[in-house]
Amino acid sequence: MTNLTQVTQYGLFVNGQWEETAESMDVLNKYTQEPAAKIAVATKDHVDVAVRSAKEALKEAFAPYARYEVLMKASQLLLERREEFAQVLAIEVGKPIRESRGEVERAAQTLQVSAEEAKRIHGEGVPVESVPGSENRMAFTLRVPVGVVAAITPFNVPVNLVCHKLGPALAAGNSVVLKPAEVTPICAIKLASLMEEAGLPKGRLQVITGDGAKIGAWLLENKDVNMFTFTGSPQVGELIRSKAGLRKVSLELGNNSATIVHKDANLDQATTLIAQKSFNNAGQVCISVQRVYVHIDIYEIFLTQLKEKTKSLVVGDPMDEKTDIGPMIRLSETERVETWVKEAVEQGANVEVGGRRNGTFYFPTILTNVNDDMKICRQEVFGPVVSVATYENVDEVIARVNDSDYGLQAGLFTNDLKFAMKAAHEIEVGGLIVNDASAYRVDHMPYGGVKKSGNGKEGPKYAIEEMTEERIIVLNL
Ligand code: NAD
Repeated sequence: MTNLTQVTQYGLFVNGQWEETAESMDVLNKYTQEPAAKIAVATKDHVDVAVRSAKEALKEAFAPYARYEVLMKASQLLLERREEFAQVLAIEVGKPIRESRGEVERAAQTLQVSAEEAKRIHGEGVPVESVPGSENRMAFTLRVPVGVVAAITPFNVPVNLVCHKLGPALAAGNSVVLKPAEVTPICAIKLASLMEEAGLPKGRLQVITGDGAKIGAWLLENKDVNMFTFTGSPQVGELIRSKAGLRKVSLELGNNSATIVHKDANLDQATTLIAQKSFNNAGQVCISVQRVYVHIDIYEIFLTQLKEKTKSLVVGDPMDEKTDIGPMIRLSETERVETWVKEAVEQGANVEVGGRRNGTFYFPTILTNVNDDMKICRQEVFGPVVSVATYENVDEVIARVNDSDYGLQAGLFTNDLKFAMKAAHEIEVGGLIVNDASAYRVDHMPYGGVKKSGNGKEGPKYAIEEMTEERIIVLNL
């Protein structure tokens, strides 16, 4: 067992030192609701010192091969401690242990791919000599680090999404000031120790914990921060963009993900994947399936199969190997989901499965007879609730999928190549997944949304492009 059961106190990681603070706050075990750890609460001074030492660290050379070695080592150490990290995830997020192990393995992959990309950062030749008067010149571009990157991360995937920021930022030669979510910061703190052990030079990574809004404001006020990379809610994303001025901002925000099941789909495959991907991490996943559109001809059989598979999911203690669905992150979130479902029912929706709460648990829920304007469809539920609606034709369903403020990913189950190609062109999302649900991701693919789902891409190769500047060098002979 991890020592989190003994209420460990964690400091800030500033300039390569672990630092205690006057104030601390509790991190709860999301299953027992008891304190599992205490974290430091940073002041403005801590934030300023962290940014200054991140900037200072940039003066020391950190060559691409050295970055590769550190990130590879960190990946290897993470795999060696997979079980310890998975247990911390199960405790601080309430994520079922099997799913937690999967997240840690993916995070190790993210670090490994970032390490590999560190060796491949390159510019390109630019044929300036093709212009009259420039015959004696030649030019090429370099990709140079942006400098100090402030990384602000959400509660739901606190190992892998932190690695999606640290890996590319460090691979690109930047320094990082990381602000993990206050409700799930322990994995990020442990990752900092692991980076230190892997040989990361002092100052390249700072971890600041405490009040998200205050630390966010102090980072935004600090002109030595060159870029913000944020994953979280659209409200906070918009605030960061409005305050960041001319600095780079990369935003990975929410979604109300749609998945279409066409009349020619493999129904067993579709219902298995939708039952799984609507309720992973209690639905608290940005690409969790929220709106299912099923062709009217197969609606009854689809619903029967989906209900059957959903009913077989085990709700319970995240540490239990059998558990599929743990608690939500906090009581207020569970109550919000309960209220939204009640409102949908008052407006005519039917509860096919679930529809009930027990403390911080919300049971996996399928709603039918919904309309697209109900809150449960139009806004981001971020809980274990999926709505199933029918459609009759391809144009109609594409229009309904697009009738959303969001556009992160969508899924489409069909064997009709013509429909798949039409959807590829017309569905307004960062990613369309054919013959899987919206919630498919591997860590080296480009990942990021359009509309209110944000902008900028993650996936180490693509994040490195965001986290570097392109500089042109022109030589005159
Ligand atoms: P959140 O926006 O409440 O918090 C995210 C982070 O921002 C936390 O670290 C928090 O402390 C910090 N923060 C809070 N107020 C701030 C402020 N005023 N200034 C700066 N930082 C501030 O989001 P959450 O509840 O942790 O996560 C859920 C949201 O994240 C959902 O909308 C989900 O869709 C989204 N998400 C998106 C992706 C993606 O890749 N697109 C992945 C995971 C989660």
